Amino acid sequence: MTSHSRTPQPAPLGNWPTPLEAMPRLARSLGLGADDLWIKRDDLTGLGGGGNKIRKLEWICGTALADGATHLVTTGAAQSNHARLTAAAGARLGLGVVLVLAGTPGSSAAGNLALDGLFGATVVWAGDVRGAALGAVAEQVAGRLRDRGAVPALVPFGGSSVLGARGYAQCGRELLAQAPGLATVVVAAGSGGTMAGLVDTLGPARVLGVHCGAVADPAGTVSALASGLSDTTVEPGSLRLRLDQVGEGYGALTEPVMAALTRTARTEGIVLDPVYTGRAMAGLIAAVEDGDIVPGQRTVFLHTGGLPGLFGHPAALAAAEAELTVGEADLTVGE
Ligand SMILES: *Cc1c(COP(=O)(O)O)cnc(C)c1O
Repeated sequence: MTSHSRTPQPAPLGNWPTPLEAMPRLARSLGLGADDLWIKRDDLTGLGGGGNKIRKLEWICGTALADGATHLVTTGAAQSNHARLTAAAGARLGLGVVLVLAGTPGSSAAGNLALDGLFGATVVWAGDVRGAALGAVAEQVAGRLRDRGAVPALVPFGGSSVLGARGYAQCGRELLAQAPGLATVVVAAGSGGTMAGLVDTLGPARVLGVHCGAVADPAGTVSALASGLSDTTVEPGSLRLRLDQVGEGYGALTEPVMAALTRTARTEGIVLDPVYTGRAMAGLIAAVEDGDIVPGQRTVFLHTGGLPGLFGHPAALAAAEAELTVGEADLTVGE
């Protein structure tokens, strides 16, 4: 290695390895063996309230620091977990953070957005734009920062570049050590980097992605990222992707998702979010129902975080409140 080589190094931001825990009561409620279903706690990565973006941000921020960055600029929805964790990473590393968010001011100040404020991030509202148009606004913001003498680093949507996905190749290695004999890991697929990194380590046959409606072409997105990580092409058709949990779209709450939230909370005391992990669990339940996941094999559910998003989602909060039992204790509890 020469002094000019630019091997990227991750910036330490999280606590590794994250725990792997059993979910025996949820397993039994689904007709699986008590030992068949496990949960990988990537909601417990630590910094900023936790979540899967921390693994990607370690690589992206490490490279940004090596490049002399003074600011991080990224994009997302108003309730973006990725934006919130980028804000936390910037605070930890002493970098300024600008969040270019889809939407208009005043729409909501709850959930992730409240935390963005605590972490000291600057928000630029981009209006009703998505995809490349949102990225274009981020480029303009970065250009203005450069004009003023700053060194901005553009963090890709969801932290999903080949560099960021390296963090999930590492998560796959943790799973190989923690869950020998793993048959399937179930993961929410948003911007795709999480699934792509797992596919790189575990192969496409052991990773079941549940599309959340964040990108137009999930198979193409994941296959491009996974191919970028490896020497071989990962064909879109080789990926296990469920497309049946999107419903009315990314931000909309569905009945199977709300059922998954209450079932997981009541059997295991684990909270999921309405956009990502709730869809992933609804997809896992559907996969048990249609025989894609079977008893006697080890399944791991990847908890990717997102709890603040629950508190920024009025429909999910109203549905949760409607679940509240008031009055005499229910004698069937504990069944
Ligand atoms: C971003 C996110 C995901 C999806 O991860 P991608 O790498 O974008 O596919 C899943 N769960 C939560 C809570 C997230 O914030």
